[in-house]
Amino acid sequence: MRVLKGIPASAGIAIGEGYFLNRALPRSVKSTVSRDKIEEEVAAYQRSLARSKEQIRAVRDGVSDPESEHYQILSVHLALLEDSMLHEQTTRLIRENHFTADWAFNKVLQSLLETFLRIEDPYLRERSHDLRQIGHRVLENLAGRPLDSIATIREPVIVVAHDLSPADTTQILNSPVLGFATDVGSRTSHTAITARSIGIPAVVGLERITEEYGTAGPVIIDGEAGIVILDPTEETVKEYTEKRKAFSQRIRDLAKIARLPTVTKDGKALALMANIEFPEEAAIAVRSGAHGVGLYRTEFLFLNRKDLPSEEEHFETYRRVVEKFGRHPVTIRTIDLGGDKFASQLDLAEEMNPAMGLRAIRFCLKEKTIFKAQLRAILRASTYGKIRMMFPMISGVAELHQALEMVDEVRADLRRRRIPFDKEMSIGIMVEIPSAAIISDLLAKEVSFFSIGTNDLIQYALAIDRVNEHVSYLYEPLHPAILRLIRRVVEAGHDAGIPVSMCGEMAGEPFYSYVLLGMGLDELSMNATSIPRVKRILRKSVAYDAKEFAAGLLLHGTAGEIGRILRKKMEDLFPDERF
Ligand code: PEP
Ligand code: MG
Repeated sequence: MRVLKGIPASAGIAIGEGYFLNRALPRSVKSTVSRDKIEEEVAAYQRSLARSKEQIRAVRDGVSDPESEHYQILSVHLALLEDSMLHEQTTRLIRENHFTADWAFNKVLQSLLETFLRIEDPYLRERSHDLRQIGHRVLENLAGRPLDSIATIREPVIVVAHDLSPADTTQILNSPVLGFATDVGSRTSHTAITARSIGIPAVVGLERITEEYGTAGPVIIDGEAGIVILDPTEETVKEYTEKRKAFSQRIRDLAKIARLPTVTKDGKALALMANIEFPEEAAIAVRSGAHGVGLYRTEFLFLNRKDLPSEEEHFETYRRVVEKFGRHPVTIRTIDLGGDKFASQLDLAEEMNPAMGLRAIRFCLKEKTIFKAQLRAILRASTYGKIRMMFPMISGVAELHQALEMVDEVRADLRRRRIPFDKEMSIGIMVEIPSAAIISDLLAKEVSFFSIGTNDLIQYALAIDRVNEHVSYLYEPLHPAILRLIRRVVEAGHDAGIPVSMCGEMAGEPFYSYVLLGMGLDELSMNATSIPRVKRILRKSVAYDAKEFAAGLLLHGTAGEIGRILRKKMEDLFPDERF
């Protein structure tokens, strides 16, 4: 038995016989043709190109939803095949150097691949896989070989391949394939994205799976842990068969509950929203029953790259997310860089206390060009759905005014240029610094909503570095100081008539759901996969009782005591849940 660790691409367990799909680039050998055969080679090249396009178009036409990732990826492949540089260089090499079509094409392909691999941006680098996949197809067509195809698979198997093209993954949708494992790929590779949207278990980026696998044998895939097991023992197969059952049950429960409203037994409705970092997560959030996005951490657009995202890139990314949610709101938090989230391209000075340094809104108010590019993009995207804008790390009213002034400047600029935007767009703030919680009554007059960021609020209120494992035992969401701060923010918000949300990790922990309901939160935003469990608890709760219970909890002196009382209550009320 061999266990390989890769990148978890799509959750779920698959157990079965492996199927090796040969996706390495076919080898070409350097060879030339005589002068009178040159035009024949050019024609053969053009035929294989046309055939490749036809094949991809046929697969694309089989995809019913033109808005789907699949459809769009296949369109990218078509566009790559239509790239004139690829043709010009290939035909030039055939005509000038008398190379055979496959050698000429291979040479151009390899040099393009090298250029792609030198790109630092992981997203663009990923596109080298798209190029390799179309290259493979053209070369196979040139050789007149039929592509080893998923469409011909008739048995339930687990596909093991160096890489899979979107055309392959599209075919998986209508095949008995149980899951797949590949050498290359990352979480943002198209292969991983499509696996998630199809909903089959997949592990990518295993580096050596094709080498380790050989040509046959049983395989287990754990797409959540990112693990592939080759030749598992009987005991392991048994263990994973149980895991697979539990996973299917989880999915069934999730699907059932995703469509139900989040309403307590006595009729109080809450909105459960998703926290996302990447636009690709939007589809999963919708499927999990999210009522929109409560926190979109846009700083992830800046990470792992050398350059800064342009206004256009911000805009396109936001538009993609907003369009997925239709009439449900998407709360775009302006960049929260600094602290534990570093962006190499910004050349930020090393700080003694990065969590308390030049981060988030402070950074944005200093780096106005970067901030304004994002504000313009958010406003422009606001006509495509329902966007709410949210500032992180607001510490007081003056700082909020400065940020709002910048929004006004950007609005005036857009108006001058006759670029439309949603004039009614809500603007709110994260309440995650104790000073903001303490003066939440003053801040509530200036904004349309609050969202409590408990991750930072706890860090600052209790003076516990959230990334330091030595003090993590003091990181207590049930500390009376934290509960009082939350109560204060909720009351201030409601007195001013604005909704109060929570988007820190505390909001997604089912153990706290009953207390948060009792404290009067209107919205909870969390990792999409937590939504069903939190929803199940809220649907079994009585808001009136929760309110009384939460008021009683606030009378106790320590987090330990509060925790014990809460545990007892939760176990009494929800005996079927595990906390
Ligand atoms: C928080 O601080 O609670 C929060 C949600 O924001 P982040 O975790 O991105 O700092
Ligand atoms: Mg925060």
